[in-house]
Amino acid sequence: MTTAPARAADPAPGTTAVRATAPAAVRPYQDYVYAYPHKTAYRPLPDRPALRDLWRAEPKDALALYLHIPFCEVRCGFCNLFTRVGAPGDLTTRYLDALDRQARAVREALGDDGPVRFAAAAFGGGTPTFLEAAELERLCDIAEHGMGAPLGRVPLSVEASPATATADRLAVLAARGATRISLGVQSFDEREARAAVRPQHRRDVDAALGRIRDTGVPVLNIDLIYGIDGQTPASWRASLDAALAWRPEELYLYPLYVRPLTGLSGRTAVDDPAWDAQRLGLYRQGRDHLLERGYRQVSMRMFQRADVTAQGPVDHACQSDGMVGLGCGARSYTSGLHYSFDYAVGMPQVRAIIDEYTATRDFTTAPHGRRIDADEARRRHLLQSLLQAEGLHAADYRARFGTTPQDDFPAELADFAERGWLDDGQDGPDRQDGPATSAGGSGHGRLRLSPEGLAHSDAVGPALFSARVRADMAAHQAR
Ligand code: SF4
Repeated sequence: MTTAPARAADPAPGTTAVRATAPAAVRPYQDYVYAYPHKTAYRPLPDRPALRDLWRAEPKDALALYLHIPFCEVRCGFCNLFTRVGAPGDLTTRYLDALDRQARAVREALGDDGPVRFAAAAFGGGTPTFLEAAELERLCDIAEHGMGAPLGRVPLSVEASPATATADRLAVLAARGATRISLGVQSFDEREARAAVRPQHRRDVDAALGRIRDTGVPVLNIDLIYGIDGQTPASWRASLDAALAWRPEELYLYPLYVRPLTGLSGRTAVDDPAWDAQRLGLYRQGRDHLLERGYRQVSMRMFQRADVTAQGPVDHACQSDGMVGLGCGARSYTSGLHYSFDYAVGMPQVRAIIDEYTATRDFTTAPHGRRIDADEARRRHLLQSLLQAEGLHAADYRARFGTTPQDDFPAELADFAERGWLDDGQDGPDRQDGPATSAGGSGHGRLRLSPEGLAHSDAVGPALFSARVRADMAAHQAR
């Protein structure tokens, strides 16, 4: 599903690329790197390592908990997340039964030798609010009693869609301590919503936003998409303003992607420079509009109202080591292995994986995943830090690895610098969080992207993939 970045062969390790000519143009929209390595680089683990062994030596005093609900009422045309449409019969009950079994097995595997504490929790999907109110109560019970996550005392983020954000479901979530509700709106324009294969009425979207605000949950996030067929600067501005009217604490602006096996894959040209230009233009417009209206930029996609104090992880990308994922679409991260169940996008395969999950009795081992060696750990650290507006703190990197990013990734960073993607401290007062170190700096201070670098985050990320991860992603058969 991912296109490898167009770039020259890597120079020998430890050398810096020297180029006589300007760097070749790269496509700005290659891959949304919300987690590295991507699940398409995971493979079956023949030895099925025991979770107890995987977690034995891990720090467990500030874990993140993620529960995945793989059901939606519709399949949006742009979406390749692991989810299915509808849940016939008693499927949601069987799913929650399996989630309960998994939670108890995983909690036992975490052990009791030292403190096991959860510092944040999230329900994602899919659409967690696809579950009815009583089922959401049960989901919260699984998080709280099955896993020991103290809901009400740690940040709890929940994803919702307009049609499923009903008053009774939201009331359960608010009562159980939700601190953030994220609503996938995508566009306030009904014609654009149809073009993105996410048909919805504007009045239903506004009603859902009203119900969320009525709960008093402190953080409302609204997701919007740019680059939809027929979208113009004027219609994009209208959607942004419609979102801003709710004074959301957070806004995510997503470029539209067309991915294999999704509803849009047969309809929109993927390699179209005009489409890239449209998306880049709308991105800049959206970014500037939000900055002018009192939002700060946290990453290419995420904007936060400047008067709001962050509750929990700033970017809800679940990137950190020490994440426990439950459900058949969730990943878990230890320092040495990322693991999950099988992954698919096509409906027959997704249904089969969910059926297999609901029939599973033994959740004590990791079936699929990818080992994270020292090189991948460095790449992951660099990626997840650099793609945040705040950038990478050199002292953190050095404390963890004993080196600097410039030592470990000279060619990549030289390339970014040449393209004007690294902040050289010349961006002036626009930057909201102080000066950065220069690209060729000594490794003290910070390394961060320039505004243009942030705009090209979806090219920066893939350029930092290892050759092995790139090869495995390319070999993955979309299904
Ligand atoms: S975008 Fe959200 S609501 Fe739409 S299919 Fe994907 S997970 Fe479901």
